[in-house]
Amino acid sequence: MTALPKSATVAVIGAGTMGAGIAQVAAAAGHPVMLYDIAVGAVAKGLAGVKAGLDKLVERKKMDPGAPDALLARITPTESLDALAGSALVIEAVIEKLSVKHEIMAALERVVKSDAILATNTSSLSITEIGAHLKKPERVVGMHFFNPAPIMALVEVVTGVATAPAVAETVFDTAKAWGKAPVYAKSTPGFIANRIARPFYGEALKLLEEGAADAATIDAIMKDCAGFRMGPFELMDLIGIDVNFLVTKSVWEAFFHDPRYAPNLAQQEMVAAGRHGRKTKWGWYDYRPGAVAAAPKEAPQGPKPKTIVLSQNPALAADRGTFDPAAELVALARAAGIAVTFEETAPDFRPLDDPFAPRGGTQFASAGGEEFEFAPSTAEDRYEPFAETTIGLDGCRLRLTRGTTGHEPGWREPDDLPVVLYDLALDYRAAPRIAIAAPAGAPRNVMLTAAGFFQALGKRVSLVEDVPGLVAMRILAMLANEAADAVYRGVCSDGDADTATVKGLNYPMGPLAWGRKLGWHRIHDVMRGLNLYYGDPRYRVAPPIRRWEHAAEVAHNA
Ligand code: NAD
Repeated sequence: MTALPKSATVAVIGAGTMGAGIAQVAAAAGHPVMLYDIAVGAVAKGLAGVKAGLDKLVERKKMDPGAPDALLARITPTESLDALAGSALVIEAVIEKLSVKHEIMAALERVVKSDAILATNTSSLSITEIGAHLKKPERVVGMHFFNPAPIMALVEVVTGVATAPAVAETVFDTAKAWGKAPVYAKSTPGFIANRIARPFYGEALKLLEEGAADAATIDAIMKDCAGFRMGPFELMDLIGIDVNFLVTKSVWEAFFHDPRYAPNLAQQEMVAAGRHGRKTKWGWYDYRPGAVAAAPKEAPQGPKPKTIVLSQNPALAADRGTFDPAAELVALARAAGIAVTFEETAPDFRPLDDPFAPRGGTQFASAGGEEFEFAPSTAEDRYEPFAETTIGLDGCRLRLTRGTTGHEPGWREPDDLPVVLYDLALDYRAAPRIAIAAPAGAPRNVMLTAAGFFQALGKRVSLVEDVPGLVAMRILAMLANEAADAVYRGVCSDGDADTATVKGLNYPMGPLAWGRKLGWHRIHDVMRGLNLYYGDPRYRVAPPIRRWEHAAEVAHNA
């Protein structure tokens, strides 16, 4: 099946934010377009918005001066559904109400030809349900554009139970011919992008709720370390906390109250208080005149170390993927004039079923050849090697977070030094900020020593509480886990999960690409650590992660 020819008429129902934009996209691709809206003046208003947008493009020399008129001439306003009789594709973009969409689809079925495709731009309703009452439900398909439709590349082509594959293919190919990045999705709550995005807000709210950090600090970490354009709280304020809360609630209800999608009380309280974000001038941030901008909390200046000691079991490190933050940090340390020495450690063991249990049953050798005897415990075959480079500073060690807290006994070093955990950065060289957490009860100079190291590398340092997974690692692990679960349940392919988040949500990288970069074993460890710590099925590991982890190990060892 191929894309609709340019001569095929495309009808758009609803000339609001989305409908007007979709009409623009179809007309820009060369189709004759019919635009219909039930409200008096809505089409004229929609077209005026399109014209204003196009005029701006001409001003910025991104469009030829004659192009807006030519494009607008292809859009015919209409006040009658009967005028849509000759359409090959109708895209419905009216209010998000099932009863209204049912009425429109039934009316269209009476008007259009039997082979016309009936597409809906719904964000949250079931495609199966929208088409269910029609004589030919097989021609109903989701064609989910993102706002603003002329700019955002993603189009989710959503199939309901009855949707004919040929109908979905035509819509997919047509979207591609329009210059969009289409993906296939099965009709399930949130489809792809709005489902995978849930933890971006939900986990940030959990972190806020448990006092891990404040909103400005979490936002700064997600931007500076994880590479997002906006932090979760800024984005909620832009979307509207009320709108975000309603979407969250509807996805959670649609998943039969799965705790992974549970809304947060803090969100509900903001809605109740009327603090809905930018539109009410107050949300997670205060936008009222004279308000002081909230700044992320930063660690006080610590001392610059003269030397750092890298400890690693080389055999195990080689076995565990390519992502090694320590390698990047060491290069920065050297460039900052800090001497780097190495020590080799023996394999590091922890119980498979309880990463928090003290290690035991083996001996650890330090660089100096000294041996540390640990109380023998369970049989060795219950243990798996756990390789992570640690950075030794004066009086503490730094380790990348891995789903446990810094004070868990499993983290203790043979020499009993306190462990300061540092958070994920997707690019340690470029990241302007690093988040760290000192273990509860650690003396202040431990935190200062750790902060001083990163500050010496030119980083701002955010202090967060010692919570499992810290901030960036925890949210990214949850996003990767959610994407893995969507793939597992047949919602989309793994490539489409990444495309949807990059092209529809402007993520810096797809969550599954993150998973591969960090290594699935790491995502697995973080999720398992969260699950054990909180005892909450919200943090259950998505089944394919275990499979992918195993496959990566097999491939590596082959
Ligand atoms: P909107 O309120 O801006 O526009 C809706 C338009 O539909 C209005 O002009 C209204 O007059 C018209 N309308 C209402 N009932 C109608 C009827 N019976 N017949 C014809 N026209 C009717 O809404 P929107 O933001 O453009 O959303 C439209 C659809 O797109 C919804 O299903 C929404 O979930 C979906 N969507 C919205 C966004 C977004 O960010 N706004 C993104 C993707 C998808």
